[in-house]
Formats: sequence, C-alpha cells, structure tokens
Amino acid sequence: MPARATAPGSVAVIGGGIIGLAVALRCIETWPATPVTVFEKESGVARHQSGHNSNVLHCGLYYKPGSLKARLAVTGIREMVEFCQQHWVPHERCGKLVVAVTDEETPRLRELEARGIANGLSGLRWLGPEALREIEPHARGVAALHVPEEGITHFPSVCEAMAAEIRRRGGEIRLSAEVRGLRETDGCWRIQAGEADASAAFLFNCAGLQCDRVLAQTGLRRNSRIVPFRGEYFELSDEGAGLVRNLIYPVPDPKFPFLGVHFTRMILGGVEAGPNAVLATAREGYTARDFAARDLLDAFSYPGLWRFLAKYPRMSAYELYRSLSRAEFLRSLQRLLPEIEERHLRKGMAGVRAQALAPDGTLVQDFDYVLRSNALHLINAPSPGATASLAIARHLVGLLREN
Ligand SMILES: Cc1cc2nc3c(=O)[nH]c(=O)nc-3n(C[C@H](O)[C@H](O)[C@H](O)COP(=O)(O)OP(=O)(O)OC[C@H]3O[C@@H](n4cnc5c(N)ncnc54)[C@H](O)[C@@H]3O)c2cc1C
Repeated sequence: MPARATAPGSVAVIGGGIIGLAVALRCIETWPATPVTVFEKESGVARHQSGHNSNVLHCGLYYKPGSLKARLAVTGIREMVEFCQQHWVPHERCGKLVVAVTDEETPRLRELEARGIANGLSGLRWLGPEALREIEPHARGVAALHVPEEGITHFPSVCEAMAAEIRRRGGEIRLSAEVRGLRETDGCWRIQAGEADASAAFLFNCAGLQCDRVLAQTGLRRNSRIVPFRGEYFELSDEGAGLVRNLIYPVPDPKFPFLGVHFTRMILGGVEAGPNAVLATAREGYTARDFAARDLLDAFSYPGLWRFLAKYPRMSAYELYRSLSRAEFLRSLQRLLPEIEERHLRKGMAGVRAQALAPDGTLVQDFDYVLRSNALHLINAPSPGATASLAIARHLVGLLREN
C-alpha cells in the first residue's frame, strides 16, 4: 500500500478507548488546524477497558497525595461531570460508603479519610454503625466513611459522545485500523495501520492493554510490562438490588491498586457486585476459558511476574480460588451485606485491567508515561483512568506543548 501523506504537524492517537479519545479531543481544542486521527483496531470505540468497567466516577479518595493519580482524579471528576452535562450523558453524584467491617480495619479507614482530606475532597463524614445504616440500611460495619462527591455514569456513552465531538470538529477516527508497525524517519512517524499506511508528526500511544507492545514497536525497551488482571462481576436480581441504595465499598488493601469487591448501582438500572482481580490468561479475554499463548508467554517470560507471585502468593492464589468459587465470592460480598444470598447473584460481565508491573514485582500505582522524541506513550492508566481521562489528556497534551 502506498503511504498516505498527512500534513506536517499532524497528530496520530493509537487507541479509541476513553483516554485516546480524550487526548484526540484535547489536541483538536489546542491546535484546531492540526489534523488529528485516532487509530482503533476494533470496529467501534470503547471495546476494551473503557467499555468493561464499574462506571464509577471516582473523586480521588484512595490515591497518594501529590501523585499524578490524586491530582488528575480530583480535577478529572469535575471535567467529566461537566462533559456529561454538556453532552447529555447520564450521570449522578450519588455518594458512596467505604465500610470497615472489623475494628482492625478502622485505622486503615482513618488513613483513607486523611488521604481524602489531603487530596482536597469535601464533605467526607465518619459514621458509626447506626449512621451508616441510615445511608445503606442493609450494610454492616463498625464504621464507615461517606464520600458524597463520588458518582456513577456510563463510560461507553461518554466515549460515543467524545467520538461524535471529534468527528464534528474535523478529526478522524479510523476503526478496524490496528497499528502494526511504527517507524520514525526525518522526524515523522510512518504508521502501518489497517488497510492503509499513514504518517504523523506526533504520536500518542493510548493502547491500553497493548500499550507496552506499541511502545516496543517504536524501538523502545519495555521496562515495565502490562499484566492483565481480570475483574469479574455478578449482577444482582431485583430482590438483591433492593438491598443496595448506591455504592458500598470495603476498605482496600493499600498494597494493591484494586479496591476490593463492592456494590455499584448502575446508572442505566440494576446493581453490580465485583470486580475481583484475578491474573488473566489473555489480555483481551473476558472469560476464564479465554487463552492467548502470546500473552501467557509474554507474562511468564517476565521476571517481574515471578517476583510478584513470590511476593504475594496468598493473594494471587486466593483471587484464583474466588474466581472459581461462587460461594467464596458470595462470602466476600456478605462481609459488607450479610443479607445477600446465592440466589440473588447472576453471572455478569468482566473487564481486564491493563496493569503495569515493574521489574521488581511491584504493581505500578501511579499513572505513568514515557515521552521520547515526538511520541508520548501512556504506559499505566488503570482506575480511575476513565473518570480522569479528560484531565489525563489535558496533562499529556500540556507536556507536548511544553516540549
Ligand atoms: C474491571 C475494571 C473496572 C474499572 N472501574 C473503573 C471505574 O469504576 N472508574 C474509573 O474511572 N475507571 C475504572 N477502570 C479503569 C478504566 O476503565 C481505565 O482506566 C480506562 O478505561 C483506560 O482507558 P484507555 O483508553 O487507556 O484503555 P482502553 O479502553 O483499553 O482503550 C485502548 C484502546 O486501544 C486499542 N488498541 C490497542 N492496541 C492497538 C493497536 N495496535 N492499534 C490500534 N488500536 C489499538 C484497543 O482496541 C482499545 O480500544 C476500571 C477498569 C477495569 C478493567
């Protein structure tokens, strides 16, 4: 195929998930005369993480003060709510409860409260057992933190609205256009994608579960590696859903960037329970039966994964067990909501987290990127990446402007 010439000063965004779309939108706002093209390998936007998540608007409670995650979550939720308002995307600020089930968990909940205050959240309230029941009558705990700024939305609809806005403002979204090769010559990227090749002056890699592989296409070494953690959900029957008003979360283990199985009311109706966090056998596999030899080889040939497994053998084995045992999943849920029963649970959807794992076996907690020559690679953008997508885009495009 002959190369399709694009004007110098053009921008290519790899990945039509919520962050790639937000980056494209931000580029169009920043440089209205610059051609912007999104390359997405699937036949529609939001087919991976952005379409398989809890749809919660996180306001910045959990993250280390001063980290990129904390800063971008706090500003991101405001920008996201504004975007939803402007584009008629359903959303609601319903608030959430983080519940300490035992006395041992209360110091960690206090730490979380301190983090929230340090991150500038407003309206946080410490509740005793009675007060927590006024908000969630069926939840059980010795204490709870009420986080009124937290909310819910529907991120696939956000992505559709972003895609429509990109097209309306003259940007292009190429679907079924997998980027397979990247070569830099004379300060210009030659992009081998789908049916036709293209070129661009700037490149944003927002490829989510494949971001480390796209990074490698540019000739850079992958220091960290994406390790897929599948998150499985159950949906509650109407009777089960009646036990949950809004969002009920456990106190998370600070060692892991996962929040623990929780209850989420969905903006389009119903209540979900989950997600767990089990090592997946395929980056884009949404059931336990999905298996991709390349992904497994990639993961198990990486010393970082072995170090992770050696560091956290119990947690890794427990997550696998809970994924296989509905009874154990139910037990986790009953810690928060004792009245929930097996008959209330129906198998729900699943999502796969693109989690960067460092060579020493630690899970990279903060958002992370690599900026080299005229390319910016987002190499870790787990939760709350969807909530913070517009703020992440503002940050990344800002870096490019500075450079
Ligand atoms: C189970 C789960 C629950 C979560 N819950 C929440 C939540 O409640 N709130 C929240 O804020 N965040 C949540 N997150 C995190 C959030 O979903 C992600 O941070 C966000 O969706 C990341 O967006 P992305 O655009 O980087 O990735 P993705 O949505 O995965 O998009 C990447 C895109 O790149 C495309 N792509 C990959 N390789 C190529 C290639 N070579 N060429 C072209 N295209 C390519 C893919 O097809 C994909 O569409 C959750 C995530 C998971 C998995």
